[in-house]
Amino acid sequence: MIKSVRHRLEPSDPFWVGDGFPVRNFFSYDNPELIQELSPFLHLDHGGPVRFEPTEKRRGVGEHPHRGFETVTIVYEGEVEHRDSSGGGGKIGPGDVQWMTAGSGVVHEEFHGREYAKRGGPFEMIQLWVNLPRAQKMTRPRYQGLLDSEMPRVSLPGGAGEVRILAGTLNGKTGPAKTFSPIQVWDIQLKPNAKAELPFQEGHTLVVFAQNAPVTLSGSDVVEKGQMVLMDRKGTELHLQSGPEGARVLILNGEPLNEPVVGYGPFVMSTPDEIRQAFKDYQNGKMGKL
Ligand code: MN
Repeated sequence: MIKSVRHRLEPSDPFWVGDGFPVRNFFSYDNPELIQELSPFLHLDHGGPVRFEPTEKRRGVGEHPHRGFETVTIVYEGEVEHRDSSGGGGKIGPGDVQWMTAGSGVVHEEFHGREYAKRGGPFEMIQLWVNLPRAQKMTRPRYQGLLDSEMPRVSLPGGAGEVRILAGTLNGKTGPAKTFSPIQVWDIQLKPNAKAELPFQEGHTLVVFAQNAPVTLSGSDVVEKGQMVLMDRKGTELHLQSGPEGARVLILNGEPLNEPVVGYGPFVMSTPDEIRQAFKDYQNGKMGKL
């Protein structure tokens, strides 16, 4: 059975995260109607595409905490530098991903890479928050810097394009991200006027983002450039079709956790008490410092 569109995820007006990331938010954990349907995904910001002028300034977001989930930053253009209180950190460029498990708590900062800031140029990124299963919310923090060169590519039949696997498995090829629940994150590059059929597990969450050009799903549902949709959990096949420009499509797919979600600011836990504890622990320096 072919999957159909269940819901269109309307982006927010653009806003700035710190002074480095002009983003639109497509969903967040404060939406009680959708949060269970989007599980295990909690939050998604699309930054850019935008052009930054050369600067000596450090643009970005200074020290702030997280607990209870993972932040996944995918860079398409430009550079992002990260440093956290567990000792994790690094700089990632186009195609690279940082997959940071906040777990029991980290304090981190996120800035443009220094060399990129000095030369300026195009900038585009996505930051996705992935929930942790309740039993792993207090796991030890972990940092995975994933390079574009270690992500396998799967060619689509008929020369339709290519799937880059950040997380999960397609046709026996598995992406480098280690995850706590079954998750697939794929970048699909479709050639002009191409068609592709992709298999998914029935009952899992599936989000499709037409990142730079329109795509048609299931033969009739048009997803315009810059639009994101949540697919129905019924069905096992996604049918994609690009227009004359081709299309880059981001796929988020995962097994729903079916657990309570209680979030406040930078913390996402399972009960209000756990949120109060997170604030206390942060104030008492238990999430470390930079
Ligand atoms: Mn952060």
